[in-house]
Amino acid sequence: MKRFVEEHDRTQATLFPERLDDYISPENPIRVIDAFVEKLDLEAIGFDRVNPKVTGRPGYHPSTLLKLYIYGYLNRIQSSRRLERESLRNVELMWLIGRLAPDFKTIADFRKDNGKAIRQVCREFVEICRRLELFTQAMVAIDGSKFKAVNSRRNNDTKNVMKRHIDRVNKTIDKYLKLLDEADSGDQRNQEHTVPDLKAKLASLTEEMTQLKEREKAVLAHPDKQISRTDPDSRLLQKGRMGMLVGYNVQSAVDTENKLIVAHDVTNAISDRNQLAPTTELVQAALKKNDITVLADRGYYSGAGINECYETGAKALVPKNYTSNNKAAGLYDKADFKYDKERDVYVCPANEVLKRRGVSVERGIKVTSYYASYTVCAECHLKSKCTVGRERRVRRREHDDLLESMEKELNETPDAMVVRAQTVEHPFGTIKTWMGRQHFLMKRLKNVRTEMSLHVLAYNLKRVMSILGVAALIEVI
Ligand code: SF4
Repeated sequence: MKRFVEEHDRTQATLFPERLDDYISPENPIRVIDAFVEKLDLEAIGFDRVNPKVTGRPGYHPSTLLKLYIYGYLNRIQSSRRLERESLRNVELMWLIGRLAPDFKTIADFRKDNGKAIRQVCREFVEICRRLELFTQAMVAIDGSKFKAVNSRRNNDTKNVMKRHIDRVNKTIDKYLKLLDEADSGDQRNQEHTVPDLKAKLASLTEEMTQLKEREKAVLAHPDKQISRTDPDSRLLQKGRMGMLVGYNVQSAVDTENKLIVAHDVTNAISDRNQLAPTTELVQAALKKNDITVLADRGYYSGAGINECYETGAKALVPKNYTSNNKAAGLYDKADFKYDKERDVYVCPANEVLKRRGVSVERGIKVTSYYASYTVCAECHLKSKCTVGRERRVRRREHDDLLESMEKELNETPDAMVVRAQTVEHPFGTIKTWMGRQHFLMKRLKNVRTEMSLHVLAYNLKRVMSILGVAALIEVI
């Protein structure tokens, strides 16, 4: 009696061999890729070489290479060399691109030369989702995450790094100069280095110092005070509590209803602070409506940015970023002073009034100052908890009315930040797992943006396939 499942004989010939299509089940996701790409107007989207030249060697149709890339990003095969190999041995790819096998250079050039069009393809799929009414709540959670670039920390020059290198070389130069002096004075204790040897080392160190000085000059002249030498667009970024990395700051807006990425962007901004309004605008454009709700964490708290969102018709809910020096020093915070709008005064914890006295403009924002009477403060029993100066001052920025009403609304919806975290953090984790240890494969911001769009497209495709099912999605496409 046989004890194992029997395998097929690999030398067995068949009278009617299977068709390639027989290997691909109706529920296979590659049928969605095929249907989606076939429906796109690639010429209108902006792909090169949609209409072939009459002369010369025939090239690959952009739809072939686009399908290849979408398949690759859906299956964690992002490199052009691996895609070349897969197209020769992978039955699904043989089906998808009709047994064509472009070489890696052709594959890589397609991604490099059609970045703008590929990013548009990602937006086209979001448009399909919008028409499928997958964004009915019009509520998104915005967050940023740092992704590694093709640039190691060793190849990132900052002011501190340059100072460290220069100090090190200076110390070594001093050491060799001392040894040279000793050798010149006939001190034979150090036999390790001969005079020509020392002179050669000093010449090489002087050369290194000249280069370091030039690099330092370039760093100081750079607007961001840092230069990445492998990928000049990447920046040294703080990655939460995980330390620093050289990479990009990816912004994404995820719909709270179906967890689809509505809009995304790749920036090299060091913080998220100024990213709320631009990302909100991308969401409004994708959803074709302005009255949306945006949830973001306290890293986005900026009066100007939040005001910009409200001006465009979006409602932003961002918790306050507590950066008060007074609170850190154990003194009353601004929140302990109540603003009386009717009288345009602040009321302090001792129930005294702080009157308006002077308006200034700081970084383009109007700031009004309110002062307590110094005679009242001098006799106040709470003074030690309130101010170390003669009297207490409270400053009110021009967007404080809006921020206060937003804070009130946020207090009335306490689960808003829980929804935010549940919505937006998961896609980042998934995409980073797909990307592997080294996140981006390409250099320069425009190429990295293309890569991210392919990841987002793959993420959204997978998500919609699991919501609607493959057959239903093909049907609606
Ligand atoms: S020190 Fe002045 S501002 Fe502060 S609580 Fe007392 S009276 Fe009010």
